[in-house]
Amino acid sequence: MKITLVRGDITEQRAEAIVNAANSSLMGGGGVDGAIHRRGGPEILEECRKLRAAHYGKGLPTGQAVATTAGRLAARWVIHTVGPVHSASEDRSELLASCYRESLRVADSLGAASVAFPAISTGIYGWPMDDAARIALDAVRESGAAVDDVRFVLFDADAYGVFEARL
Ligand code: ADP
Repeated sequence: MKITLVRGDITEQRAEAIVNAANSSLMGGGGVDGAIHRRGGPEILEECRKLRAAHYGKGLPTGQAVATTAGRLAARWVIHTVGPVHSASEDRSELLASCYRESLRVADSLGAASVAFPAISTGIYGWPMDDAARIALDAVRESGAAVDDVRFVLFDADAYGVFEARL
């Protein structure tokens, strides 16, 4: 597996699958989620609605992942995963690692050769970037996934620098 870092907007990635830092409602939100639905168009939300109705009445649980079409994006699939909200009093790192593992498991089941990840939970969900980078890189390296091209797409120079130092 080749792990690379890219600075930029994940919606512009040409990876076969891009991962969305979704919330459990799967109905869209801010940050990466908002950008993916805006640029990918209504088809993504339509599939999310069907998934909610068929399988996730109470929402997609934290740490799990599920795929939909990528609509108008260059990717073939969007893999939605729900990161944990960072907590100072409770260690939720296993849930964050699970987002990466489960997303790669879904990517493998689709036969995706390349996957682009955002820095899950580091925006609205408040996870410190350095700790999130460590958890993300360890989880991907230890996943045993067949995907051979994993990219982390970091939105700004600071996030890129933190991931670069960890890699
Ligand atoms: P979460 O709710 O999991 O914290 P966010 O979408 O709020 O998710 O943020 C996750 C990370 O993605 C943050 O570091 C944020 O700066 C970054 N980000 C926001 N928009 C984009 C984008 N279009 N492409 C890549 N990364 C993005």
